[in-house]
Amino acid sequence: MKVPLLDLKLQYFTHKKELDEALLRVAESQYFILGKEVEKLESSLKEYLGCKYAIGVSSGTDALLLALMALNIQPGDEVIVPTFSFFATAGVVSRLNAVPVFADIDPVTFNLDPKDIEKHITPKTKAIIPVHLYGQSAAMDEIITIAKKHQLKIVEDGAQAIGAQYKNGKKVGTIGDIGCYSFFPSKNLGCFGDGGLVVTDDDKLGERLRIMRVHGGKPKYYHKVIGGNFRLDEIQAAVLNVKLPFLDGWSEKRRQNAKLYTQFFMNVGLAEEEGKLFFDEKNKVLLPKAVYKNSVVKNYHIYNQYIIRVEKRDALRKYLGEKEIGTEIYYPVPFHRQECFANLHCHEADFPVSNSAVSDTIALPIFPELTEAQLKYVVDSITEFLKS
Ligand SMILES: *Cc1c(COP(=O)(O)O)cnc(C)c1O
Repeated sequence: MKVPLLDLKLQYFTHKKELDEALLRVAESQYFILGKEVEKLESSLKEYLGCKYAIGVSSGTDALLLALMALNIQPGDEVIVPTFSFFATAGVVSRLNAVPVFADIDPVTFNLDPKDIEKHITPKTKAIIPVHLYGQSAAMDEIITIAKKHQLKIVEDGAQAIGAQYKNGKKVGTIGDIGCYSFFPSKNLGCFGDGGLVVTDDDKLGERLRIMRVHGGKPKYYHKVIGGNFRLDEIQAAVLNVKLPFLDGWSEKRRQNAKLYTQFFMNVGLAEEEGKLFFDEKNKVLLPKAVYKNSVVKNYHIYNQYIIRVEKRDALRKYLGEKEIGTEIYYPVPFHRQECFANLHCHEADFPVSNSAVSDTIALPIFPELTEAQLKYVVDSITEFLKS
């Protein structure tokens, strides 16, 4: 049985008619940049996310870059980011000649460990970028408390988490000063190329983000500030306008798939409960868990990725590949080990949790269209491997 990590064709062929019509509509209008489709998308997303400003941009990376520019992050300023995330989270900081300062993560949620943030704060620290990795909210209450105490801005990297909710039901990305999302095709809401979004509730920031999206000119050709070309195009917005109404249904399907994985893993004795660490036992897996520390209230996890932790990760990955099961490693190298950050002189010992996560995490197929039989086949194959 073949189980790809992701198969976008299934979603496309289910909604082919509306999507093709939307593409044609843009072609016939010959209006490509910041038009009616983008306006419609921005107004729908504002409502969907529950925020005051939603501004379509060219990618998730550009959303983060624009957010830092709007917050006036300057060369030499320090921005705290988790060392375990997609490269863009740290890359955008360096692109402004500011300094990304890495912090370690929580072993169950893989998100910034609030306990590890404060020791990295210096007089130069200006902002924190919590990442809602894999589709689950970071510990925002704790992060906000730290940010308030030290007067830091919060830019949420919600690239993998559009529609995910923090324990209190608030959508991630709308909790900090600016929220950023990506519409890269593999995200829960993906377009037909690159696209992204920035959101805020702050009037001044909303205005700045909008102006800086088009080179900072207001009126056009008169520049008080320097922005860039961070525009979202009409074709991408038209695709997203068709897809947005289905987003919650797709994320709900991913959640059901995650639940099935849990059942199957527990049935074969590879796990006792979600989020239970396995370090004392070999040949067990750690299942992802939607948690909120010290509370019965759970985050609403949208499972952009379904990540398990397992000791023999690399051998397992090879075995699953032979069984035609697609997997991926998100991410094999933490920021503190990246060659491009060697000048930051990080200490390996400061990041014990991330150091183990890079060697024992593996992403399993979780996309909405998977069948129960496929999920069962994945767990059966892992069982064969771990029990052989
Ligand atoms: C995908 C992603 C980004 C970047 O988004 P692009 O649209 O690919 O530029 C940033 N941060 C995280 C955590 C991501 O997963």
